[in-house]
Amino acid sequence: MNCIFCQIVEKNAHAEILYENDHIISFLDIRPVNLGHALVIPKIHYTDFLTIPENELDEIFKATQKVTSAIVDSVKPDGFNIVTNNGVAAGQSVFHFHLHIIPRFDKDNFAFRPIFKNYENNSMKDYANKIIAEIKL
Ligand code: AMP
Ligand code: ZN
Repeated sequence: MNCIFCQIVEKNAHAEILYENDHIISFLDIRPVNLGHALVIPKIHYTDFLTIPENELDEIFKATQKVTSAIVDSVKPDGFNIVTNNGVAAGQSVFHFHLHIIPRFDKDNFAFRPIFKNYENNSMKDYANKIIAEIKL
């Protein structure tokens, strides 16, 4: 498979690796929003958030907390975002599931700038019901 992240896992492509265990690997993003911007990926290729099994997700989150803590202690940002883009519409460009750890600084000028929508005619309840009906317990 021609996946750059699989190549990084296989050590066939270079990455600035921060942390690695049997399940995950974390490395610096080559196009950082801020310096120290890191990615955490499963070693097995899953396309996105919905296809990664629960136990692998646990490993991702545990490692993400560990790496984030190291970024906070070393880079000393004012805050951080943990982000995952899923689907082209959401900005996903590498289709191997990953979490971004983005160190944030006061006035770093990076922000989601949403144009907020309104729920018209009590449709908030309709949206809630539609979603609730699809929740699989
Ligand atoms: P996304 O747009 O959420 O799919 O994020 C993919 C991220 O992977 C982008 O921020 C890229 O800068 C980063 N990226 C792509 N190729 C590499 C690479 N070889 N090494 C490190 N980061 C990469
Ligand atoms: Zn892959």
